[in-house]
Amino acid sequence: MKTETTIQGLSASLNPARAARKIIGFVPTMGNLHEGHLNLVREARKLCDVVVVSIFVNPIQFGPNEDFDSYPRTLEQDQHLLAEVGCDIVFAPTVEQMYGNKPRLTNIAVSDITNDLCGLQRPGHFDGVAVVVTKLFNIVQPNFAFFGQKDFQQLAVIRQFVRDLNIPLEVIGVPITRAEDGLALSSRNGYLSAENRAIAPTIYKTLQTAEAELLAGTALAEVLANMNTTLTAAGFVVDYIEARTPELQKIEQFDQDVVLFVAAKLGATRLIDNLQVKYPAA
Ligand code: AMP
Repeated sequence: MKTETTIQGLSASLNPARAARKIIGFVPTMGNLHEGHLNLVREARKLCDVVVVSIFVNPIQFGPNEDFDSYPRTLEQDQHLLAEVGCDIVFAPTVEQMYGNKPRLTNIAVSDITNDLCGLQRPGHFDGVAVVVTKLFNIVQPNFAFFGQKDFQQLAVIRQFVRDLNIPLEVIGVPITRAEDGLALSSRNGYLSAENRAIAPTIYKTLQTAEAELLAGTALAEVLANMNTTLTAAGFVVDYIEARTPELQKIEQFDQDVVLFVAAKLGATRLIDNLQVKYPAA
């Protein structure tokens, strides 16, 4: 496995594969890798000849009061993990390599679906994601790109601009990897105190209860209210609990497939999760 830190170096490493028309798979990450990330790499390994994983903590997707400076950076450990799951090339550029030292004047704003859910709490976040992912797509030029359904809204935003801008690759969504107790794996789980780590799986339990209630015929609004009550009683400060269609359209009743979304804080740590509930076939 190679590690490249420059765009030029990455191109030099990838050019032979491109010339041989090998299928290139790409997994963008911010590092501090866990099984959730590694499962994306395993999916890429199944479908592609060459697997590239980027590790880049992207400053422009963090708000001024967010954790850009303190975000865990563990490159050496990440390299070991990636070598074990068969990654071919790690791309770990510096901020300067990605953004240069001239001002960036171009933005990519995906309307409507970014003014919702996490986009309301994190203004500019998805623009920052769209810009860095587009830059990485242009740098790596993959055939397939892999993203986790853990960040469901991010995946929807990426699918949208790939379609709108005719970016020539296929986006693959990979199911959420969870700890044994149901907590969705996240680099931010490491911020939780032992006490809060024990409370955190309540999010997934609440989503599962909500699914059971929906399937038993409880009204959607009541199900969402119950989730709020449970999470608040467990000690969470809820950012939002919402239901959307898989395309992120508003939905008032459970009359089609629905995705339940939760963002909630435990102490200073903001956790997100979601669960898709299939509408029962008649
Ligand atoms: P991040 O490093 O947090 O930017 O995540 C990089 C990629 O890994 C994104 O596509 C995430 O959706 C995905 N990812 C992170 N955690 C999980 C998880 N628990 N299950 C599945 N995918 C995940």
